[in-house]
Amino acid sequence: MAEPVGTAASGALQDRGTRRPALSPSRAGDFKQCPLLYRFRAVDRLPETPTRAQVRGTVVHSVLERLFGLPIEQRDPEQARALLAPAWAELQEQQPELAGLFDGPDDPELASWLESATALLESYFEMEDPRRLEPEACELRVETELDSGVLLRGFIDRVDVAPTGEIRLVDYKTGAAPREIGEAKAMFQMKFYALVLWRTRGEIPRQLLLMYLASKQRLAYAPDETELRRFERTLEAIWQAILRAGKTGDFRPNPSRLCDYCDHKALCPAFGGTPPPYPGWPEPDPGEESVLDRTD
Ligand code: SF4
Repeated sequence: MAEPVGTAASGALQDRGTRRPALSPSRAGDFKQCPLLYRFRAVDRLPETPTRAQVRGTVVHSVLERLFGLPIEQRDPEQARALLAPAWAELQEQQPELAGLFDGPDDPELASWLESATALLESYFEMEDPRRLEPEACELRVETELDSGVLLRGFIDRVDVAPTGEIRLVDYKTGAAPREIGEAKAMFQMKFYALVLWRTRGEIPRQLLLMYLASKQRLAYAPDETELRRFERTLEAIWQAILRAGKTGDFRPNPSRLCDYCDHKALCPAFGGTPPPYPGWPEPDPGEESVLDRTD
């Protein structure tokens, strides 16, 4: 996992060794979608096979992070293209099993996959000019504890702070999920980060910006305090429901059309499967996200 670029939010960064039960936007979203999916991922920790589209999203995020680590005048499309191979190589080093996505370095499908990642980067440059921006942080790991004791943890793609102090949170979407499904999920994630930033810095971000690179569309949203307070109560309720299910092991399946994207269908009672014996609530649940969690 890459370290943040730039200055981190005061008090927002925590030691990576910290382990306390925590809620991330991905896991909260899992539980909302299907409690059994949450169990499979967060409690059983069953392995999943990432798709090429997910991995491409991770690589593109990594390139954009590296790009903002360069001196401002060097942030051009050529540099971005040059960063692609090292970003892919580093991801394979971190997760050697990803090399199995292709039949070796000469697989023509690898070349076209890299080409599709390049196209997303080119779209990015059509959407904004990184030479006109100096983000405060990229891939910022944030964490905060709500008054109720719920610990929230996650990564923000980019934090921009205007000279006047207004904060903008930016999230890149590389388009692996269907737009209508992905949008609600993405907004949930962005409200999560807005709440963490607000609780950490005492300031509500002025704007949440989703950048859909494949379609070159931007979706901007201005959160307000009433809404974030309501969202905070929603997260607390989700966490309480997770803890209740965690004690009893009663994580129910909630079938939907999203089951088509579930890696664990074969173990799901809604599809005639049998889950493994409940291993018990993990103590403590680190609430961590993998790099692949953060792609769309
Ligand atoms: S197949 Fe559907 S219902 Fe079953 S665990 Fe996966 S998401 Fe839940």
